[in-house]
Amino acid sequence: MIFHNPAGAPELACDECGCRWFDRMANRCYECGADVPEASRAAFEQALAAFRADRDPDRANPDAARFTKARP
Ligand SMILES: [Zn+2]
Repeated sequence: MIFHNPAGAPELACDECGCRWFDRMANRCYECGADVPEASRAAFEQALAAFRADRDPDRANPDAARFTKARP
């Protein structure tokens, strides 16, 4: 699941337990061990790119390009 912290930035949380700590190498929740679906990670990266673009369009562009590589 994705939620937003008080600063408005998206944060990725475990679908199973809501924990925000992940083993990034294994894409697994530290708390309950649930796998993080590819779709969830992709959605989070898009949300993060959108957040950065909203805050700082000039600096966000390189990141946005990296995150949109799947688009035509
Ligand atoms: Zn979990």
